[in-house]
Amino acid sequence: MRFGICTLDEFNLQGKTVLCRVDFNQPIDWENDALKSTARIEAAVPTVKEISDAGAKLVLMAHQGSDIEYQNFYNTRPHARVLGDLIGKEVKWVEDVCGPTAREAIKSLKDGEILLLDNVRYCSEEQTLFEMKLNLSHEEQARTQVVKKLAPLGDLYVCDAFAASHRDQPTLCGFEQLMPSAMGRLFEKEYVVISELMESPEKPCVFVLGGSKISDAFIMMETVLGKGVADKVLTGGLVGNILLHATGQDIGKGSVDFIYAKNYEDYIPKAKALYDKYSDKIVLPCDLGYVEGGERKECTLGDVPAEIGAIDVGAETIKIYQQLIMDAKTVFVNGPMGVFEEAPSEAGTKAVFEALGDTNAYTVVGGGDSVTAAKKYKVTDKLGYVCTGGGALIRFLTGEELPVVKALRYAGSKFGPEKK
Ligand code: ADP
Ligand code: MG
Repeated sequence: MRFGICTLDEFNLQGKTVLCRVDFNQPIDWENDALKSTARIEAAVPTVKEISDAGAKLVLMAHQGSDIEYQNFYNTRPHARVLGDLIGKEVKWVEDVCGPTAREAIKSLKDGEILLLDNVRYCSEEQTLFEMKLNLSHEEQARTQVVKKLAPLGDLYVCDAFAASHRDQPTLCGFEQLMPSAMGRLFEKEYVVISELMESPEKPCVFVLGGSKISDAFIMMETVLGKGVADKVLTGGLVGNILLHATGQDIGKGSVDFIYAKNYEDYIPKAKALYDKYSDKIVLPCDLGYVEGGERKECTLGDVPAEIGAIDVGAETIKIYQQLIMDAKTVFVNGPMGVFEEAPSEAGTKAVFEALGDTNAYTVVGGGDSVTAAKKYKVTDKLGYVCTGGGALIRFLTGEELPVVKALRYAGSKFGPEKK
């Protein structure tokens, strides 16, 4: 057991039917019936192989898109194909989640075989709207159709969907009420990394927060500064711009208009309060980059041309941030320093990620666009850890217990491990 949760080490898997929830959710290429990225499927391979190689009948449950991410709502057949290619073994697929066809397919599995069920969010009970509106307890989730129909067919429930562990939905939190449960290897790895990051990071610990998800950034900043986890928070992107504006710095009319156009003005007083409290720890950009006539230009604060928005940090800021990253023992990054997708505004992000590749610090990167940036600047292999779960990571960093962690702990105390 780790954190009160059983691991795969504590169960005999041979001959068992294992119901395993994974997070294979990826952007979809509808025209070619394919996935635009396979990163999350690759990340789950160790767990899938371990369970299947141990001689268990492995039933995989996954979601793809949802009511709030409808452009990616799709079946899981492409995922079965990708997984099969990755592990070099047939992955069966069934166009059903918990109806008679799915249940028959589960019952006919032989030891070592793998079956992926269709998108669990085709069941209304698994929808985010259902979660938000009905707010079912874990006990009630155990009485949903999907759990009631599938649980009797399994001996063990495994959750490897760390990236979805902030969701409170039946296939994530319901099975743990009814049967022995464990976390998969990916879940275990990600949970250990972020727990250690929050509990005992090697100091100095630097957080680099940028990007455009303002509410997440401010929640994280408040937590890591409040708990004394971060010694410095380096800011950039829209997060940096809002802090600069909130603390009375002149970032140009265009940059301020953008904040209002995005309806982020509510964060201005929050940003000011946060900075007033932690001005010794929050580091603001001292110069900015903008693009004029397709060309990159830089200026000190106060000199951004009125109508143009600042969309990167400047060279002086870059130098300071690089040094702080080099001198740190732990660095966590969420959110790019600028609009790195375009060449004239990529310098800040590029420099930060290159420093991540060079520093001796333990480095953790989370967030979809940050992971993309790490790939773009070819430092992914040099990072300490790349977290697959943005939402879960952020929820964890706010100090709240993740619903799936809570459910797995409950199963740990109720059913315990098989092997002591
Ligand atoms: P992550 O996915 O890593 O959590 P976010 O989603 O919060 O990061 O932010 C990424 C997006 O922020 C990118 O698309 C980037 O272009 C944008 N961005 C970065 N800096 C700025 C800025 N100054 N103004 C507007 N958008 C920005
Ligand atoms: Mg993003």
